[in-house]
Amino acid sequence: MSDSYDVVVIGAGPAGYPAAIRAAQNGLSVACIDAWKNFDGSRAFGGTCLNAGCIPSKALLESSELYHRASVEFASHGIGVGKLELDLAKMQARKAGIVKQLTGGIEALFKANGVTGLLGHGRLLPGNQVEYTPAEGDSQTLTGKHVVLATGSEPVELGIAPFDGEHIVDSWGALEFDAVPKRLGVIGGGVIGMELGSVWHRLGAEVVVLEALDDFLVFADQQIAKDAARQFKKQGLDVRLGARVTAATVADGEVTLAYEAGGESHPLVVDKVIVSVGRRPFSDGLLAEGTGVKLDERGFVKVDEECRTTAANVWAIGDLVRGPMLAHKGTEEGVMVADLIAGSSAEVNYKVIPSVIYTDPEIAWVGQTEEEVKASGRAYKTGTFPFAASGRAKAMEHAAGLVKVIAAEDDDEILGVHIVGPLAGELIGEAVVAMEFSASAEDLQHTIHAHPTLTEALHEAALAVDGRAIHSINR
Ligand code: FAD
Ligand code: NAD
Repeated sequence: MSDSYDVVVIGAGPAGYPAAIRAAQNGLSVACIDAWKNFDGSRAFGGTCLNAGCIPSKALLESSELYHRASVEFASHGIGVGKLELDLAKMQARKAGIVKQLTGGIEALFKANGVTGLLGHGRLLPGNQVEYTPAEGDSQTLTGKHVVLATGSEPVELGIAPFDGEHIVDSWGALEFDAVPKRLGVIGGGVIGMELGSVWHRLGAEVVVLEALDDFLVFADQQIAKDAARQFKKQGLDVRLGARVTAATVADGEVTLAYEAGGESHPLVVDKVIVSVGRRPFSDGLLAEGTGVKLDERGFVKVDEECRTTAANVWAIGDLVRGPMLAHKGTEEGVMVADLIAGSSAEVNYKVIPSVIYTDPEIAWVGQTEEEVKASGRAYKTGTFPFAASGRAKAMEHAAGLVKVIAAEDDDEILGVHIVGPLAGELIGEAVVAMEFSASAEDLQHTIHAHPTLTEALHEAALAVDGRAIHSINR
């Protein structure tokens, strides 16, 4: 193993590993160090996303959705399945298999691209040196002409409800339950709370989500959030807004939460609690004295638009820096940095980063919410189309929700697209491409969409912007 590289990347999550691969594709010598350790002590590349985030959560969301549909929906198609049985151990094993395949895939990609993958801890020293401490063996010092920091984030812990790994768990713990809890409390009704709350609710848990804010999914377009809230309520998912947890006591195998809502204190007794109140950047043990890398007041590494830190030739990307904590945002930053290091021009279009919440209904959006456009003072118009009027959504037995397109009044440019409904996360891709090319609502109106597909709903919402929808009444 060499001790001198063009690029040393610390962290092999969805920000770090693509940075390493692209840098190698650009002809640079690259080492990528990762400290990830699984519950069973095994090591793996892939970071939070592959090991304990995006991938395992989506595997369980898929399995639990199928289980739920089999129990409540198949009958309406005329399909009888008799008594449904849940083999949670098998469901979990399937999830673990997917994770293993994908994390192993990164190792293979590293090999194929000539990246030196190193399992262990990395620490930035002054002068672009990196102290690498392998999982086993002595530390050694590597030198990188450039160093990329990509150490990600960690869950926020609540002082009043500290994680104990058994009764009060973080999102990773909540992906590993070996039995469906009878009563599950979720503190924080954001993305993780709704996704993981949905998994266990669909598998039979009584779930109560306690959200401190008075509005549901404040970061989403509120018309969409309200529609989603209605659908969750119909499913029996109990989301209590304006509920601030003040205490948690574990005794006799159960957890008693106290929360304030409407000026009163309420008790909630559950078997397990998931705390999902946000994530914070993770830089513990990363920076030695004198590196010149500065953090902001919230602990993010300070970077400019091109992800340059305050130290020469040191870059930082992904959850460790400002911006949405999304895997694809980190990936784009990693690829950009690798191209900039190689001397190419590159940028990330931060205005067009899609967000998806993989619940049922799925919620997806790109660009500005109506609230944001309103606050900006720009005149705008909106068009909506309900999935209730979509032939394909009806055929799928998923005819709830809507698509909303927001366009500028002056030049018709699409400012935001918001979807709640079937496969919203897939549908949003078309809107992302449209916005990347600064499309107008009229451009979407003139684009032919296959019939009968869910994409017609986006087409009709674009038509509705100018009161020209064919399959719904224009208001
Ligand atoms: P990470 O993925 O956290 O990777 C950082 C890596 O750095 C880790 O492997 C860590 O071990 C390593 N590391 C840390 N310190 C050191 C060190 N000193 N030396 C060496 N290695 C170190 N995002 C989406 O876009 N879509 C989703 O569907 C989605 N679902 C999620 C579900 C859950 C339950 C969670 C928790 C997150 C989810 N996210 C999702 C968010 C996504 O996982 C993160 O945005 C993404 O993983 C951030 O990538 P990253 O590379 O910056 O950091
Ligand atoms: P979040 O910011 O999405 O939601 C946290 C929620 O907890 C907020 O609604 C907040 O008001 C609430 N909250 C905070 N303190 C509280 C308290 N004391 N009591 C009750 N509620 C409280 O954070 P998250 O769900 O933990 O997710 C973390 C990050 O991971 C997010 O930035 C998200 O983008 C990312 N993530 C993305 C996906 C996806 O893309 N599908 C999935 C999971 C996670």
